[in-house]
Amino acid sequence: MKTAPFDSINLNPGPIPHCQICKSKKFEFIVDMGHNAPCDSPLTKEKLNEAETVYPLRLLRCSDCGLVQIDYCVNPALLFHPDYPYLSGITETLKKNLHAIAERCVSKLGLPKNKLVVDIGSNDGTLLEGFKKIGMNVLGVEATNIARVANEKGIRSIQGFFNLNMAEKIFDTEGPACLVTATNIFAHVNHLGTLLRGIYLLLQDDGYFVSESHYLVDILETLQYDSIYHEHLRYYSLKPLIRLFDDQGFTLIDAERIPNYGGSIRVYAQKGRGHPVSENVRKLIAVEEKAGVYRPETYQNFAKDVRANRRALRSLLVKLMDEGKSVVGVGCPGRSATLLTYCGISTDLLPYIAEQANCLKVGLFTPGTHIPILDEAKMLKEQPDYGLILSWHYAKDIIRNLRKKGIRSKIIVPLPNIQIVENEM
Ligand SMILES: [Zn+2]
Repeated sequence: MKTAPFDSINLNPGPIPHCQICKSKKFEFIVDMGHNAPCDSPLTKEKLNEAETVYPLRLLRCSDCGLVQIDYCVNPALLFHPDYPYLSGITETLKKNLHAIAERCVSKLGLPKNKLVVDIGSNDGTLLEGFKKIGMNVLGVEATNIARVANEKGIRSIQGFFNLNMAEKIFDTEGPACLVTATNIFAHVNHLGTLLRGIYLLLQDDGYFVSESHYLVDILETLQYDSIYHEHLRYYSLKPLIRLFDDQGFTLIDAERIPNYGGSIRVYAQKGRGHPVSENVRKLIAVEEKAGVYRPETYQNFAKDVRANRRALRSLLVKLMDEGKSVVGVGCPGRSATLLTYCGISTDLLPYIAEQANCLKVGLFTPGTHIPILDEAKMLKEQPDYGLILSWHYAKDIIRNLRKKGIRSKIIVPLPNIQIVENEM
């Protein structure tokens, strides 16, 4: 089967010269988030005495295929460094979600037991644990040291970046995969062509590739400008994805909206072109069209709302400070770096961020804004007047937990509209 040259859409670090899917050079500018430090590179105390590199962060839309994307690629070795501070198993909610994906994939796609499932970007192996429970043969591919955690749990994982060599090696030693999954890396990889070609080679004929990514409709509808960061090179909607898969020899056969990370899309692709396509795809495109995803003015309104939120949030924090109130941050997900940097919030407005004691970021400082990340025991003891919740997309659950732990501070929810929550949401 003839496929488009896969490596022509691979990106090198630096400014991105053309659309990441269709290679058009016609863009509509959406919003400039300024220069930002990589959002999952919190600093040690010693590093605060050194220079910190920041990179442009601008959001654009391709006028030809409609892909929303950023125009600068940070070297992935810097973004996904060996000490990348993230464990997917860390929250029960996330663990449950990941195990549910495994069940859903196996039943929906009718996968026979004992066949090989490969997860790319497998993190601590939580998703594969779900597949293993159901009786699948599993293998993880993970670039960071977290691969060790998976191996210790008995989830076989290769540490390294997925490429054609690795795909061939896995194929030769383990046989073809019936399913390849990539949750939350499909919008991140700079070598998108190589990724899809590698998956193509690794899959059996008519095998499946299931990915999950932030969904552009949710980003627009709930003003999630804090999900714009260098790790997210692309912000997917269905039309550009259908084109991408077709270019690379796959059929996008189904898609569904899922609540993860404030709104994501799970996309099912099948190796080979011309497979039957679910009615869900047409329905979801209708949802996208209704949300204005394919109209330029939608993005101008989005940018206007983003700028207004920045002004309002800063004004609120300055006002509270002038009134002598104490405010601290709550939770430090990757996306908080964008919000803090873009809104110009540093230790003058937020003296520290409270995090769960088992979070790998405790003891470090936020990238760009250098706010200390401390054990939430401090917040519990001090009971500040306000807590600015930075994992606001999980606000309801987090606030309930804070109350259970005895934290009585009023909680500021920054997005999609600024809200102050006195008790529970
Ligand atoms: Zn394009």
